[in-house]
Amino acid sequence: MTEFPERVFSGVQPTGNLHLGNYLGAIKKFVALQENHNCIYCVVDLHAITTWQDPNVLAKNTHEVTAAYIASGIDPEKHIVFNQSQVSEHAELAWIFNCVARMGWLSRMTQFKDKAGKDGEKASVGLFAYQNLMAADILVYRATHVPVGDDQKQHLELTRDIAQKFNNDFRPSIVENGHGDMFFPLTEPIIEGPATRVMSLRDGSKKMSKSDPSDLSRIVLTDDADAIAKKIRKAKTDPMPLPDNLEDLKSRPEADNLVGIYAALNETDKEAVLADYAGFEFSKFKPALAELAVEKLAPISNEMQRLQADPGHIDQILSKGADKARVIAHETLTAVKDIVGFIR
Ligand code: ATP
Ligand code: MG
Repeated sequence: MTEFPERVFSGVQPTGNLHLGNYLGAIKKFVALQENHNCIYCVVDLHAITTWQDPNVLAKNTHEVTAAYIASGIDPEKHIVFNQSQVSEHAELAWIFNCVARMGWLSRMTQFKDKAGKDGEKASVGLFAYQNLMAADILVYRATHVPVGDDQKQHLELTRDIAQKFNNDFRPSIVENGHGDMFFPLTEPIIEGPATRVMSLRDGSKKMSKSDPSDLSRIVLTDDADAIAKKIRKAKTDPMPLPDNLEDLKSRPEADNLVGIYAALNETDKEAVLADYAGFEFSKFKPALAELAVEKLAPISNEMQRLQADPGHIDQILSKGADKARVIAHETLTAVKDIVGFIR
């Protein structure tokens, strides 16, 4: 089997309300992976427009996600940080994948059903085909690993299905063009730790999300200490003190969520948090959680503000990153064109 050099790719949509789930489930992982991997981190603006975005706000949100990446510790000099629309190879490969993926595969994606809501007929075609573009984002760099939150698991499976079908459908041509027996790797998701699915602070059965109408449902990275403390104080919980074991925590989604958030912020696991807080009432645990959240998030929030005050500098970082990304993406797409039989 063909060996692929390890490469990490992931992205966040510039759709505003960047929240604690995005940070703990994705961005914090991005930062850690830099140490031992070549990483490509994208602000996926082409994905953002699958639902309506005001053009002025889209640019501001693109700056915000970039600022969050850098403020959290991503190094755009050693790795690659850029916005998706500056590298047109993503969209070109996505078209080819539109012709590889099957209608039935996409029809089974639960996120499309959630996002399209009751009136699927009115959803954009882009929202339906979104996962093909996501597969292209990853595979245009032939990335081997993708750190994401738990909600993206199904989309990563689809990415593997697309890679595999392309490898099968074009096998003779892949071999003829000197790429061994497969051109695309079967990418592995990295979904680990205590906060792969941070839940809404108002409803332990729903994931924390940018689009929840309630501001109290999420902590956003721009919240100040007062806002963080208030949202945690108002977070929905049950009336019992914290248990001393994971088994009892499992059946209490709101408690489980707050313990998971504490563990992820403190870089430990849920067991360690229970070892310290078993028997505590929420009236005691919540202030401790708020204090920890402020301690960890305030430096990021302050640095984001500083960076966003100079949007020209952020644009420069994105443009330089796009130049680096384009070199790799162009090489992949040139090979794909030869494999498919396009004259160039
Ligand atoms: P939207 O509702 O617009 O899709 P989102 O909050 O899901 O917004 P995305 O930009 O789609 O944000 O996702 C960026 C990354 O954050 C992805 O890796 C996703 O899996 C992760 N993520 C999103 N929400 C959560 C959450 N509640 N817990 C953990 N990870 C999350
Ligand atoms: Mg999402």
